[in-house]
Amino acid sequence: MTLLSEIKDSAIVENLKKRFLNDWIFTYIGPVLISVNPFKPMKYFTHKEIDLYQGAAQYENPPHVYALADTMYRNMTIDNENQCVIISGESGAGKTFVAKYIMSYLSQVSGGGQTAQQVKDVILQSNPLLEAFGNAKTVRNNNSSRFGKYVEILFDSGQPVGGKISNFLLEKSRVVTQNPNERGFHIFYQFCRGMPSEMREDFGLTDPDYFNYLNLHQCYEVDGTDDVADYAETITAMTTIGLIEEEQGNIVQIVAAILHLGNIIFTEEGNDKAIVENQEWLAFPAFLLQVEKAQLEKKLISRVMETRWGSKTERLDVTSNVQQAETTRDALAKGLYARLFDYLVKKTNEAMKMKTKSNGVLNLGILDIYGFEIFQKNGFEQFCINFVNEKLQQIFIELTLKAEQEEYVQEGIQWTPIEYFNNAIVCQLIEEKRPPGVMAVLDDVCSSQHGVNEGADTNLKSKLMENCRKNQHFQDNAQGFAIHHYAGVVSYNVEGFCERNKDVFNVDLIELMQSSRCLFIKNLFPDVVDRSSKKRPITAGAKIKSQANDLVKSLMLCTPHYIRCIKPNETKKPLDWEGVRVAHQVEYLGLKENIRVRRAGFAYRRPFEKFLHRYAILTKDTWNKWSGSPQNGVLHIMKSAKIRQDEFQMGQTKVFVKAPESLFLLEESREKQF
Ligand code: ADP
Ligand code: MG
Repeated sequence: MTLLSEIKDSAIVENLKKRFLNDWIFTYIGPVLISVNPFKPMKYFTHKEIDLYQGAAQYENPPHVYALADTMYRNMTIDNENQCVIISGESGAGKTFVAKYIMSYLSQVSGGGQTAQQVKDVILQSNPLLEAFGNAKTVRNNNSSRFGKYVEILFDSGQPVGGKISNFLLEKSRVVTQNPNERGFHIFYQFCRGMPSEMREDFGLTDPDYFNYLNLHQCYEVDGTDDVADYAETITAMTTIGLIEEEQGNIVQIVAAILHLGNIIFTEEGNDKAIVENQEWLAFPAFLLQVEKAQLEKKLISRVMETRWGSKTERLDVTSNVQQAETTRDALAKGLYARLFDYLVKKTNEAMKMKTKSNGVLNLGILDIYGFEIFQKNGFEQFCINFVNEKLQQIFIELTLKAEQEEYVQEGIQWTPIEYFNNAIVCQLIEEKRPPGVMAVLDDVCSSQHGVNEGADTNLKSKLMENCRKNQHFQDNAQGFAIHHYAGVVSYNVEGFCERNKDVFNVDLIELMQSSRCLFIKNLFPDVVDRSSKKRPITAGAKIKSQANDLVKSLMLCTPHYIRCIKPNETKKPLDWEGVRVAHQVEYLGLKENIRVRRAGFAYRRPFEKFLHRYAILTKDTWNKWSGSPQNGVLHIMKSAKIRQDEFQMGQTKVFVKAPESLFLLEESREKQF
């Protein structure tokens, strides 16, 4: 890409197309890897390639994700630096695929004994497990990740010794409802279809169309997915991460209970009061959850209100209307599911927790997060997802475009600045406290008395207008508001924003779950219930904001690598190229600016000391006799490796090398020394 004769979007697209049609899905912009989803298996992911890319210099082989994985691994072991790779791109662009290739590569090239093997097994098996519970068919992707995930693998002397998964914002609304042509989480279909029939009977599991949470749009099949086979894989994965049979049974029990909860239908009995239409529907979910049937009913159709009379507090049950009862039922289903998901992540982490303490541990992180989303109707979930993507784009800009250029200035390197769009302004519009951004306004509306009322969302809309309209990236529109994201304009429908942001799993439901005779279920709800507490529960928006900022902090502590995934079409078919779609992605991913900065600048930079550490070996014969500053040491090495004078510049603290080729020469000479 950096050698294109003219750097413009159309030329980039053309280049990608040519390569794509010739089955080359990977392309470099310097160290940044572009990956285009081929929608068909490619031949170059075999053992042969694993060998080929191991320890090879970048220019020796065609671009490949293995090369990037190898660079990360070598950088970590040789330079003693933590590494991370940020995989971005829209839904269905191939992020999760590429993340899995990286994990499998690392697992194959890194050595180790029993502990290492255990860590590898757990990491690899965490994929099918979390995909079963966290992925679903969407319009965009038949196996769409509905949660974000940052996988950190800990290494000691190049061997995996532990790992940690952090998960972000599971789209739990999918448990109870989906858009047309989409399914709920895979696990529901796997359990309904794959389980041995006598076991299925125990849990009252039957065809998916029996359950209201799954039959809304009658979408049951997914091209290329075999729920029965996947069921077996999920069970294997559960066993690998150390879930014993009893726990597996508890998990099935909860998933089945959720489905049966969905079949409880309410009807109105005068006075706006909800009753359960048919008492029979209560028995089975109550049995599965191991709670009293009458209690379950009571908690679904009424809620406790507290009133204070002087020092006395009076509790009274207020009846719900049908809509409120449905909301409570769905909240219970979603809450249970979310806690179950967190539990699975926790167990996975326990299974790969580092056994011994050591100082030399380095980590290598892989970030696979849901891509930017624009649907016909965009709600609170899309808002959060797009916010996280905005933050990641911000890191990319900070580290590759901004920092790169600032560094040239700092180090006194000659340089002509390059223009680029900095999306910091969009991040501010969303997360700033003062002047209040969208999240602050939302929290404010939710915490006020009106937050629970039906008019809350309308109130939100007008409050947003008041506070945010000065930002050029904000627009008012009929259903809500629009944000001009780095990746395009998205209109958000405010309906449901307040409720989803408040995300209260109400105290009544927590008490209900704590009354369960099943220890497993009870333990999912360790919450301390305090009705008198004035402390506001943390909102979903505040949570995702703090998670996103923590993530940014951890990423910033690592040497970053980037994979930019591109989705070539909407048909999910191989060799189908929609130029306009690709052009749009190339534009918003900022590839052109990326190439410009890359080409005009220096491909490689290292602090003098680090450079010496890595390359001193090249001058083995003369090194002992040499003494002087690190700076002179670098010059000495450059000279003996015969790197041309105009190929590099010396900054204040770092050496800058122009074309990677000269560096490859260094790497090659280094190899020859071994
Ligand atoms: P994302 O995580 O970006 O939403 P996925 O990684 O789930 O996208 O990819 C979507 C689908 O595209 C996959 O299920 C698979 O069918 C196909 N796909 C993606 N990457 C590849 C690849 N490298 N080789 C073959 N098929 C791929
Ligand atoms: Mg994915």
